[in-house]
Amino acid sequence: MSATHPYSSSSEQSREPSEQEEMLKRGLVRVSIAAEGIDPLLDRRLKELRNSLRSDAPASMLTALLPDLERAVLAADQSRQQRRDQVCALLKKLIRQLQERDPPKETDRALRALSKPLDAQDNIAQSLPKLLQELTQLQAAALNSTPEQSSSGLWSRLFSKPSETPAGHSQIDELAELPASPAEEPLLAEQAATSLEQPATEAAPTVETAIETAAGDTPETSAKVSGNISGEEQNYSKVAAHVESILLNLLNGMQLLEQQETDCQRLRDQVSKGLNWYELTAVLDALAALVLNSQQNRQVEFESYLQQLNQRLSQFQGNLEDAQSSYVDSLETDRTLEVDIRDEVKVLHEDVREAEDLDTLKANVEAKLSSLLSKVDLARDRREARDSKVSERLTTMVERIQVMEVEAQTFRKHLEEQRQQAMIDTLTGLANRAGLQKRMSEEFERWQRYGGQLLLVVLDVDHFKSINDRFGHLAGDKVLRLIALQLSRRLRKTDYIGRFGGEEFVVLMPGTTLEQGAIALEELRAGIEGSPFHFKNEPVRVTISIGYTQFCKGDTLDTVFERADKAMYSAKDQGRNQVIQDSHGTHA
Ligand code: GH3
Ligand code: MG
Ligand code: MG
Repeated sequence: MSATHPYSSSSEQSREPSEQEEMLKRGLVRVSIAAEGIDPLLDRRLKELRNSLRSDAPASMLTALLPDLERAVLAADQSRQQRRDQVCALLKKLIRQLQERDPPKETDRALRALSKPLDAQDNIAQSLPKLLQELTQLQAAALNSTPEQSSSGLWSRLFSKPSETPAGHSQIDELAELPASPAEEPLLAEQAATSLEQPATEAAPTVETAIETAAGDTPETSAKVSGNISGEEQNYSKVAAHVESILLNLLNGMQLLEQQETDCQRLRDQVSKGLNWYELTAVLDALAALVLNSQQNRQVEFESYLQQLNQRLSQFQGNLEDAQSSYVDSLETDRTLEVDIRDEVKVLHEDVREAEDLDTLKANVEAKLSSLLSKVDLARDRREARDSKVSERLTTMVERIQVMEVEAQTFRKHLEEQRQQAMIDTLTGLANRAGLQKRMSEEFERWQRYGGQLLLVVLDVDHFKSINDRFGHLAGDKVLRLIALQLSRRLRKTDYIGRFGGEEFVVLMPGTTLEQGAIALEELRAGIEGSPFHFKNEPVRVTISIGYTQFCKGDTLDTVFERADKAMYSAKDQGRNQVIQDSHGTHA
């Protein structure tokens, strides 16, 4: 006999379930299994239902379960609806953030189209995989289209063009490096998607948690971030040779103290051997320390020189005062001597007048004369002693002044050398931009005062970037040096040549008419075109575009430079390897 169930009536207990009811029960059990996983509460209710069905519980018991089940279904449906809204909102936010990165028009349009169905929110679960797939592609397009806005390293920003950004620059790299203000943080499409599958009891990922995952130091992210650093390394290796040659030039051109030579040589050796991205930082640090140290030491050296100078000047002052007082002393001695002599002579006079016999007179006169002579001798000895002392001091002073003059000259020379060095381009040995500007101002002033013919020429190497690209920066540097040599050789001594920057040179030609300039510059252009530049045994054609103008009434340095530069650009426009005279100059 079966046990009486609290909800069952005696009539229900006796009835055997029909075959149809059995099938229905089995069907219900299967449906309840299929519905599992939507919501934990619903899962519990469904389990109770299955247990009742399997234990042949009476219908009344099933009826009692139904209200709870109904409530659980409603709650599950509601929380599903909430998650759907949440996913739609997160996806829309992600789309908006991608749009804010100014993606290309096409991507922007596609993102807008993708955002539309999210407003309707129907059937989002079904269309989600497709939507996410599209979004992932658009996300990649939007992020990769603006690499210069990413916070990649300084080197890549300085040296790489957008097209050169390594392809491995992943979305995670971008996201991981974005600022950490949670409200503004971007999401990953995949992370937004996970929230749809999350049960309601487990918190769906908020914007913040999604960001934490994106920006957190998971092995995956750190691997990708370090991938980004190796991107910088890659970029660095492209310009390493160029950087090394600049550093060597700098190290060779630096004026160092004797005690710094060993450090400098060590750095030179290190740079010559070749640097990788990490070694570069260390070398730059050491170089900065060397420069600072040398500057500080020079300052100390100069200060101690000034101190020494001060001491010597006060010594001089003491010596001069001594000399002055010794001169006053000697005047005083002379006066005393004179008084003494007068007294002696007076006494002698009286002796002569009062003398009674010649012998006494003779004896008196002799005695007085020898006393006089000894006083004069004494006075002379004293004066001589003083004079030699003063002259000794004066000689020492003169010698010291000579030493000081030599020292001052050395300092002046040193300062002048430093001033000159600051105006010389270390690569070509020509004047640099600062040197050029100084000379241009001087020539301009001279021209304003005395008039005459003065030409300004701007020269730019044609397709220089491709020389760098094909043969490397060191070869590019060599071309710049050779061109500088050609310019110095082919132009007149009175022409002033400088490297304005990069592959651009400026020449000032005083006392030159436009016609003379045209001939000289054409020869220069043809000379460079015909120069035998060779790299790796391959002849390389190097040409330059030249623009020039003459200084005209009312000109400022800026207006003249602008005209010459424009003429140079016309030469580029007209096919490069040309000499173009600024048309304004002809009417002057
Ligand atoms: P264009 O005929 O229009 O002048 O083309 P270009 O390639 O000469 O001009 P662009 O301005 O595109 O490139 C100039 C290149 O010169 C880019 C830069 O890397 C290179 N450059 C600038 N300074 C130096 C340098 O000191 N050494 C080397 N090797 N290259 C330099
Ligand atoms: Mg150029
Ligand atoms: Mg240029």
